[in-house]
Amino acid sequence: MKYIGAHVKTQGGVENAPLNAESIGATAFALFTKNQRQWVAKPLSEENIGKFSENCKDKGYQASRILPHDSYLINLGNPDPAALEKSRAAFLDEMQRCEQLGLTMLNFHPGSHLKQISEEESMDLIAASINQALAKTTGVTAVIENTAGQGTNLGHTFEQIRYIIDRVEDQSRVGVCIDTCHAFTAGYDLKSRKGFEETFEEFDRVIGLGYLKGMHLNDSKKELGSRVDRHEQIGKGMLGIEPFKWIMSDSRFDDIPLVLETPDEERWAEEIRMLKGFI
Ligand SMILES: [Zn+2]
Ligand SMILES: [Zn+2]
Repeated sequence: MKYIGAHVKTQGGVENAPLNAESIGATAFALFTKNQRQWVAKPLSEENIGKFSENCKDKGYQASRILPHDSYLINLGNPDPAALEKSRAAFLDEMQRCEQLGLTMLNFHPGSHLKQISEEESMDLIAASINQALAKTTGVTAVIENTAGQGTNLGHTFEQIRYIIDRVEDQSRVGVCIDTCHAFTAGYDLKSRKGFEETFEEFDRVIGLGYLKGMHLNDSKKELGSRVDRHEQIGKGMLGIEPFKWIMSDSRFDDIPLVLETPDEERWAEEIRMLKGFI
């Protein structure tokens, strides 16, 4: 089964996310459980939590179809000890929010070395950050998203993601989310049939398809290997429509949330309908 949705808004409370998802015909969704541009948010209320699970149940969204995303401010590989602590505390808070909401995954960008330490040293910090958060929570899997490799962002190669996973103590609670735009601009040629096949064979060889817990479906405004992260509507960018048809007709991508993060949310309903048509 394919589960397709978008990263929906939570204005008025997290409990509105499943309602917003349903209104665009989504069978999966992503959300922020707090304002993604602020370090601290007020705790979720009993009302938020109760209504969220009630609405998810009503609308038929199981936790395995919901992929919450953490704040953009968090850098789990930050070389500065004080900044790292701040990120780790915020990440733990995000994991705990997921726990409270009965959610089983938290999607995050691994981190950046900021040119102050080596890639390996930063990835060691990221793995230690994941270990700390996993030790203090239960039932939530940390889902590493591949990046475009913009600036000093890590996680743009499958090898880097493997490096981090290798250092996670509880590997049953770590996973990966592949963003099609990020993969393409990081240098994985998803546009050609050959490149598409090679990319996912490589993913399986280096990381393992069992770790794939979700995907972000985005076309790209920027070229292959540009290392720039600019999402485009499905079929309107450098990737074009074909790779999305291949994903929809490939059982390797069954039973995980497939989430749009395309810029124009007015077109999500139409994009979801189109993607469903490719199944
Ligand atoms: Zn993404
Ligand atoms: Zn992106």
